[in-house]
Amino acid sequence: MATKAEVLDFIRVYADKMAEHRQELTDLDQAIGDGDHGINMSRGFKAVIEKLPAVEEKNIDDILKNVGMTLVSTVGGASGPLYGTAFMKASAAVKGKETLSNEDIILAFDEAVGGIQYRGKAVKGEKTILDSMIPAIDAIKTSIANGKTMTEALVDAEQAAWEGVEYTKTIIATKGRASYLGERSLGHQDPGATSMAYVFQAAKE
Ligand code: ADP
Ligand code: MG
Ligand code: MG
Repeated sequence: MATKAEVLDFIRVYADKMAEHRQELTDLDQAIGDGDHGINMSRGFKAVIEKLPAVEEKNIDDILKNVGMTLVSTVGGASGPLYGTAFMKASAAVKGKETLSNEDIILAFDEAVGGIQYRGKAVKGEKTILDSMIPAIDAIKTSIANGKTMTEALVDAEQAAWEGVEYTKTIIATKGRASYLGERSLGHQDPGATSMAYVFQAAKE
C-alpha cells in the first residue's frame, strides 16, 4: 500500500532524479533522437514541483492529475504527452482514494500503460518507454501474487525495469524518433525506457 505522503515523496524523489540524470538522458537521446529527453523530463518535473504546493493538501488523484496536466503542458516532446497521459490515467484509476492498496497501485500502473499505448500505439519490443515499464509492472504482479510486500515487489520491479533497459540495446526502434534510424538504432539504449526505469527506482526508494 501507499499513503498520500508516500505518493508525494515519490514525485519529489523522481523529480530530483530527472534533474540529476538530465545529462545522461540527453546523451542517450543524442545518439538515437534529437538530444532533448533529459531536458524535457527535467523541465517537466521542475514545473511539477513548482505546482505541487498548490495541490498537496488535495486527494491522491488530484495530485496525480496535476502532475499529468503539468507534463502535457510543459513538455513539447513525445515524452510529455506520454508521461502526462500515464499520470492522468493513474489518477482516474484511484479516484477518491485516501490511501492506495496494492490492488490500487497495480490498477494505476496498468491504466498508465494503457494510456501510453492508446496515445503512442506502441507495444513491447519497439524500443520505447514500454520496454522497461511493462516488465516492471509484471514483476510487481508476480511478486505480490507470491506474497511479497509492495516494498519487496518494487525492488523486483526496478530490477526488471533495468533488464528491460538493457534489452532495448538489442532491438530496432519502430516507434518514435529513433525509428528513423532503422537498424542504426541497434546497440543503443532507449532514453525513454531509461527515464521509466527511474520511476521504479524512485517508487522503491
Ligand atoms: P522526442 O522524441 O519528441 O524528442 P523525448 O526525447 O522526450 O521526445 O522522448 C523520446 C522517448 O520517447 C523515446 O526514447 C521513447 O522511449 C519514447 N517514445 C517515443 N515514441 C513512443 C511511443 N509511440 N510509445 C512509447 N514511447 C515512445
Ligand atoms: Mg528527444
Ligand atoms: Mg524532441
